[in-house]
Formats: sequence, structure tokens, C-alpha cells
Amino acid sequence: MNASPVIAIHGGAGTILRTAMAAETEAQYLAALSGILAAGQQILADGGSALDAVTEAVRLLEDCPFFNAGHGSVFTAAGTHELDASIMDGRTLEAGAVCCVKRVRNPVLAARRVLEHSEHVLFTGEGAEAFAAAQGLEFVELGYFHTDARHRQWLLARGAQRAMLDHDGATLAAGVDKALDKAADRAADKSADQTAAGDGGLPHEPIDPNRKHGTVGAVALDAHGHLAAATSTGGVTNKQPGRVGDSPLIGAGCYADDATCAVSTTGSGEMFMRMVAAYDVAAQMRYGGATLADAAANVVMERLPRIDGRGGLIAVDARGNVTLPFNTEGMYRGYARVGDAPVVAIYR
Ligand code: ASP
Repeated sequence: MNASPVIAIHGGAGTILRTAMAAETEAQYLAALSGILAAGQQILADGGSALDAVTEAVRLLEDCPFFNAGHGSVFTAAGTHELDASIMDGRTLEAGAVCCVKRVRNPVLAARRVLEHSEHVLFTGEGAEAFAAAQGLEFVELGYFHTDARHRQWLLARGAQRAMLDHDGATLAAGVDKALDKAADRAADKSADQTAAGDGGLPHEPIDPNRKHGTVGAVALDAHGHLAAATSTGGVTNKQPGRVGDSPLIGAGCYADDATCAVSTTGSGEMFMRMVAAYDVAAQMRYGGATLADAAANVVMERLPRIDGRGGLIAVDARGNVTLPFNTEGMYRGYARVGDAPVVAIYR
């Protein structure tokens, strides 16, 4: 008998600090993750394919402004948006991906069309947009990808003169907001407890500007025993125009093979590329006989840190095992088995 269908998603890893997150914001993130998991879960419960479930979950994550993909993507150093996405079907090993697209509303749908309707695997820039247009996909005005929160993050990253992973930039922005709020409170109430603000109002662990991540992804096992994975991102805040990370690269940011596992990653893309991180999980299972959990933990907790790779991944195997390891302070994540309530989490 097949294992019960399951879907897992992530909304990026990074310096996500409880101290820098308002309770209301945290609740909104958790609700968004649960709702998106429920949508993917429904597809699987109806007998839909893992490929359809991950496509829909990532499409919803792209449309949600909280996450760095689609609407809500980070800004490049030129103040523009360049989006990347990939998808892989573990049943057939077919794959599709796009990178550096600027006006395609849902890059994961473009990746899916590449998988289904092209002899190629990866399209970039104008060629990717021409392919998406020929496929009849929705295009948006450049302003669609602008969100005030990401714009603020970009201004901070630009001020620091570096590229910055999405959630690290968000934490930095939240810290600045909190500092401003506290300063306003103190001005309003001269009797405020100055010792409580002895840190200047910034979170106790201000972000290290070398740490920076965001991206979305989904992996699933369907009722027929098939696996699929999809990943989508705006990349890193203040990245050089034309920079491409691991997310649209099959093997680095996304991989699926029914014989082993389905994987979607998030983190410092350059290191995930150098480790061929997603495929390495599958390779350790295939050639080394490792379990899903051991292979994923080895990649995230041992191999990536050796080259300063920060981030995490989500993975599922054909037996329905799920693992969600990360080596950062937090990762927006969750999974849902058909018949059970979604499980969501942010911090370690
Ligand atoms: N891996 C993504 C990239 O390098 C960023 C991230 O996951 O935060 O583009």
C-alpha cells in the first residue's frame, strides 16, 4: 500500500528572530502557511498529482506578499525585480525552469510550461518571457512586484552596500522599526525605563549583514507514489542584475526522483550551487543508502556549513517521510498529510 500523500512547503530561511517579530505578524505568517498547505493537501486528497500540488502551493506562495517570490520579491541593486523558478517531476525526471524574468506574474507556472511544452529545461530573461507569452501566461506591470516592505529592506541593504538574504533584511528592517517605536515611546514618556532600552532599542541580536535568505518551495508525495518539487524566488536583496542563484537550477535548488526524494532549498544560493545541494540529498540516498533524514541533515548541518552555506531545505521520500532541516535561526515551514491538520513553524 502507498504511504499517505503529504505536502511540505517553505517560505525561506534566515535570521528570523522571535524578538524581532510582532505577534500579529507571526500569526499572519503562520496562517498564510497553513492556508497554502491546506490548498495543496486538498489537491492530494482529491487524487491529484504531486506535480499539481507543488505547482499550486508555490503559485499561492508567489502571490502572497510575505514571501520573497512573485509579488513580494526583493529588489536588485538596480531597483528592479528578477525572478527565478524551477519544478521537477519525480515520476518522469522531467524538469522546467526560468530565471531573470521581470514581468511574468507566476514564474512557477512558466517553469511548469517549460517542463510540459519544451524540449529545453531552463530559459532565461527575454527568451523566458517570450516563451511564457507564447504559452499565454499572465504578465504584470513592473510595479506589481513592488511592496513597501521589500523596498525598505532594499534601501537598508543598499545603505550597507551589500546583497542581503530576504529574511535577514526583514529582520534588520523590523529592528529599525522597533528602535524607532521605542524612541517615540521614550520621547512621549520621559519616565520610561531607560535600562530596558539600554541596547538602543535594537533587537539583542542585530543581523549579521553576511546572512541573508528568502525563497519559497514545495515538495509532495501523491496517492500514486509519485514525488515532485518546485522552488521560486526573487533572489537576494540588492543582488547584481543578472545574478542567478540555486533556485532555478535543477540539482541545486530543486530536485525530484521517485526512486529517492523530492527536495526544495532556500539559503545562500552560491553555496547551494557549489554543493549541488538538492541532488546531494538524493545521491546520498541512492548511492550511500542513507535515510532521507540523515542525507538532508548531512547536507544542511555538515556539508553546507563547511563553506559557510546558510539556509535549509524541505524534502519528502516515497515512503512519506518528511524532513525540514535548517541551520539558520528560523525557516518558515510546514507540512500536511492528507487527513491531518497542517503543522507549521518558524523558529528553531
Ligand atoms: N537561494 C536563493 C537565492 O540564492 C535565496 C534564498 O533562498 O533566500 O537566490
